[in-house]
Amino acid sequence: MKIEEFQVLMEELEKLTPRQREFLEKHLEKIEQTQAVNTLIESRASTMPTCPKCGHNQIARWGLASGLQRYRCSTCKITFNALTGTPLARLRHKDKWLEYAQQMTEGQSVRKSAKACDVHRNTSFRWRHRFLALSNKHKATSLVGIAEADETFFLKSFKGKKQGMTRAPRKRGGKASKRGLSDEQVPVLICRDRNGSTADFILKKADKISIGAALKSIMASDAVLCTDGSKALGAAARKIGIVHRSINLAAGVRVVAKVYHVQNVNAYDSRLKEWMRRFHGIATRYLANYLGWRRMIDQARDSLSPRAIVLAALGMHHDQQLRVT
Ligand SMILES: [Zn+2]
Repeated sequence: MKIEEFQVLMEELEKLTPRQREFLEKHLEKIEQTQAVNTLIESRASTMPTCPKCGHNQIARWGLASGLQRYRCSTCKITFNALTGTPLARLRHKDKWLEYAQQMTEGQSVRKSAKACDVHRNTSFRWRHRFLALSNKHKATSLVGIAEADETFFLKSFKGKKQGMTRAPRKRGGKASKRGLSDEQVPVLICRDRNGSTADFILKKADKISIGAALKSIMASDAVLCTDGSKALGAAARKIGIVHRSINLAAGVRVVAKVYHVQNVNAYDSRLKEWMRRFHGIATRYLANYLGWRRMIDQARDSLSPRAIVLAALGMHHDQQLRVT
C-alpha cells in the first residue's frame, strides 16, 4: 500500500463504530494467522522444489495464489504450490490451523478443539487426522548403543465404524472380556535407545516373527537390546542375531551390570498410556496417528509448539524443522 493511501486509511479508521472496530481487529488477526501459516508452508519450498507429479526440477515461479508462491513445471506444465500433495492441501480456514495445532499440543478432545476454533466437530476430527497423517511416520529409523524394547497392548476398537462389526459394540473405553493377550488386543512394540530415539510398531501378532521383523528394521547391528524377559522378545532377538540382555523383573532384578535396564521404555510406556486415557478408547485404525502424536509430544519434552505440529503435518520431521527460522 502506498504511503498516501495508508494515511487515508488511518484517517478513515476514526469513523469506525466500536462494533466495526471489533470486526476489524478480528479481521486483522485472521490475516496475521493466515500469513503465519503461509510462512510455515513456504518454508517447505525453501530449497528449490521439484514437481509433485513428474519429479522434475525444471520449475518456474508462476505468480501468487491464495497468498502462496505458485510454481509451474516446465516438463508436464502443471502448476502447484508448497502445499500441493500434503495432507493439508485443500483444507479450508487456514487462519485457524495454528489455533487448532495449539489445541493438539494440549491434547484436547475433538469437541473442545472444535469449540475453540469455531469449526464443526466433524471438521475438527478430520483436521486431527490430517494433521497427524505424516507425523505418525516420523519415527526413529535406527537405534544405537543400548536400546530397550517392550510390548504393550491396546484394546481393539471399531469406534466410529458403523458397518462390518464382527462383535457387538462395547461402551466407549470399555474393557476386554478376556484378561491379557487375546484377539481383543492390538500389540504394539515400543523401542527406545538412550538418546531418546523412539519407534513404535503396531504388530499383527505379538510373536517372534512380527517382533523380529520390527526389531530388525530398527536395531543397529552392534546395539544391545534390553527387554523385561518376555519369551517372544527374547526369541525375536535371538532370531535376528542381536545382543540381548533380559532383565528378570519378576525376580526383582532391575538393573544388570549397572547399565542394562528397561526403565526408559517402561517410563515412556506409562506416559503414553496415561496420556491416551483422555481419549476414552481410540479407534484401532487411528492408533498409529495417536502413537505419532504422543511421540511428537515426548520428543519436544512436553513443550510441543503449534508450529511444530503444522510443520510435521507438512511432512517436515524434527531435524528439518530446526532449520526453519
Ligand atoms: Zn512435472
